[in-house]
Amino acid sequence: MTADADKPPFLPFALPEIGDEEIAEVVDTLKSGWVTTGPKTARFEREFSAFLGDAGLHSIAVNSATAGLHLALEALGIGPGDEVITTTHTFTATAEVVRYLGADVVLVDVDPATLNIDPRAVEAAITPRTKAVMPVHFGGLAADMPAILDIARRHGLKVVEDAAHALPTTVGGQLVGTLGSDATVFSFYANKTMTTGEGGMLVTRDEALAKRAKTMRLHGMSRDAFDRFTATVPSWYYEIVAPGFKYNLTDIAASLGLHQLQKARRFQQRRAEIAALYHAGLAGLPLRLPADAPAGDEHAWHLYTVRLADETRVSRDQAVEALFEAGIGCSVHYIPLHQQPYWRERYGLRPEHFPHSQKAYERLFSLPIYTRMTDADVQRVVAVLRRLLG
Ligand SMILES: *Cc1c(COP(=O)(O)O)cnc(C)c1O
Repeated sequence: MTADADKPPFLPFALPEIGDEEIAEVVDTLKSGWVTTGPKTARFEREFSAFLGDAGLHSIAVNSATAGLHLALEALGIGPGDEVITTTHTFTATAEVVRYLGADVVLVDVDPATLNIDPRAVEAAITPRTKAVMPVHFGGLAADMPAILDIARRHGLKVVEDAAHALPTTVGGQLVGTLGSDATVFSFYANKTMTTGEGGMLVTRDEALAKRAKTMRLHGMSRDAFDRFTATVPSWYYEIVAPGFKYNLTDIAASLGLHQLQKARRFQQRRAEIAALYHAGLAGLPLRLPADAPAGDEHAWHLYTVRLADETRVSRDQAVEALFEAGIGCSVHYIPLHQQPYWRERYGLRPEHFPHSQKAYERLFSLPIYTRMTDADVQRVVAVLRRLLG
């Protein structure tokens, strides 16, 4: 027997939960003869709007959240000479879409309590060129949307929410997606709170935005392929009204989404249970635990990100190393954008411009949190950290 045989199996940082329902739906789609965007995608969009519970919403399925963010900003007319304000403490996708359109990104610091974009920093960064703000609901905890929507109203700015982590998240009892921003974009990437492998959903109440995004999602075509090929009258005719993109979601992916969506509440409850186990298990250690949602609100718990306290001499890298040694995957959310060569060099950014994000980055790491983890898996993670820091 080798030493390795005694080791518990590796606990990955993230795993999707795909059930027999999803698999049967995909098989049904494969056998149906229609595998690209079609009836299942349309149903997924209707059911997504129903999930958010708002009859006035358009849900537009896309092949990634990145695509959805790009379409939203394009439809809002963001272009060269414009500035869009977002958080430095995010994944590069949030900001890159602004550059696709030739506009400029203005990165701002976070509130150290939540790691969400700081509304005061947003207001301080507004210039005559500012056109939009993109809050990110970090880890699944809502950004301060009342403050951001108020700033946007007062300064005439558009708001596009990056809700890649935020299904389901609520603010004052209302689901993210229904809050009154111009558009909200969810991600169904493999490690998100629900998945279609790759995919996303752009949600808006704005008719004109919805129309433009639907056209631009598929080559700038006036009618989509399913419309044309299933019409009862000959319908080969379409018009190209703009140089659009190839951002449509396939029915194969939508098949996964239909069933993941039905499980989204249960998934969220399990994630919240795991967060509560971590809270209890890690209490008293020199760790700053992630903030809970305000009483009465929901946290999607996409991430469980902890920060080492100032008083501990253990470094973030040592903590990550100890977890990996014990066969536990973890990650860092995020290497802030101001640290990334492209963003740093393009805008001449320095860590001291973002003291809260910078300090958090140096001390933070994210623990596994997903529905397929058992309570024993959570206790295994807790035990390693108690040994290291206790
Ligand atoms: C995952 C993620 C995205 C991108 O989502 P995709 O569906 O992979 O394009 C955007 N923003 C944030 C904050 C994310 O975590």
